[in-house]
Amino acid sequence: MVRVRIDLHTHSTVSDGTDSPGDLVRLAADAGLDVVALTDHDTTAGWEAAVSALPAGLSLVPGAELSCEALATDGRRVSVHVLAYLFDPAAPALVAEQQRLRRERRRRLRVMAERMAADGLPVDADDILGRLDPDAPAGRPHLARALVRAGVVSTVDEAFTRFLGGGRGYFVPRADTPVTTAIDMIAEAGGVTVLAHPFATSRGPTVSEETIAELAERGLTGVEVDHPDHDPETRRRLRELADELGLVRTGSSDYHGTNKTIVIGQETTDADQFEALLARASRTPVTAS
Ligand code: AMP
Ligand code: ZN
Ligand code: FE
Ligand code: FE
Repeated sequence: MVRVRIDLHTHSTVSDGTDSPGDLVRLAADAGLDVVALTDHDTTAGWEAAVSALPAGLSLVPGAELSCEALATDGRRVSVHVLAYLFDPAAPALVAEQQRLRRERRRRLRVMAERMAADGLPVDADDILGRLDPDAPAGRPHLARALVRAGVVSTVDEAFTRFLGGGRGYFVPRADTPVTTAIDMIAEAGGVTVLAHPFATSRGPTVSEETIAELAERGLTGVEVDHPDHDPETRRRLRELADELGLVRTGSSDYHGTNKTIVIGQETTDADQFEALLARASRTPVTAS
């Protein structure tokens, strides 16, 4: 049997990765992938370029990673990322919310950069934002790269550890989309939703199993089980939970180019799980014409 290789979570320069959408699909094909999803944060702006550059033999799943928040039982807000696939990118409610969020991303990055500058760190908010497309989803990796350029840190990872991570001095939260709203909007737009790295504790507080059960009830399609930020025990727990709740299980690299050390195709999704995901979407992946 030929093994199909499927990676359903990658970022391009359209958000905070370092490969253009075209380079990303070429890299995916060179890495031996059969299916790749483009899931830039809070934007679908890279879809067209990825489709145009699509090599023969590679299927593209157009997607996005939506920045969301869930309410924990104690009332605290927990950051959650929702991978959305195969939806109508022109659905009005979705377009409006994504535009709001990208504005919110720029506002928040400016606050973080200005606080750092006020403390004497050599970063300039206008310069960082000026390097990006005016409608781009600005994120902490852009600020991290400015710190690398200024010689304050030697890697993006070091910038997160010392300055930008949750709980670090300069972290500023964002007003993200309520996760239930995101699930509803994507379902309305004909797509499917997968909870990204749900138990990645290194990123901060995570959702509970109870919350995942509620989201499954609400229409969530799947959970990302195999992700670089999940250890073997976490993957085992999530696999069990997914089976219990009837959720599709995915595996993906969360590739960001040189902003992270992960390689594309490092984690993959089983073909039967991918089929189950496709069965719940109204659109199909794109292949080279
Ligand atoms: P933001 O969207 O502004 O909240 O920034 C989060 C982004 O930074 C996500 O895409 C993460 O994958 C990335 N990120 C988080 N922690 C790190 C880290 N330690 N090194 C590199 N990238 C990170
Ligand atoms: Zn990212
Ligand atoms: Fe994420
Ligand atoms: Fe991601």
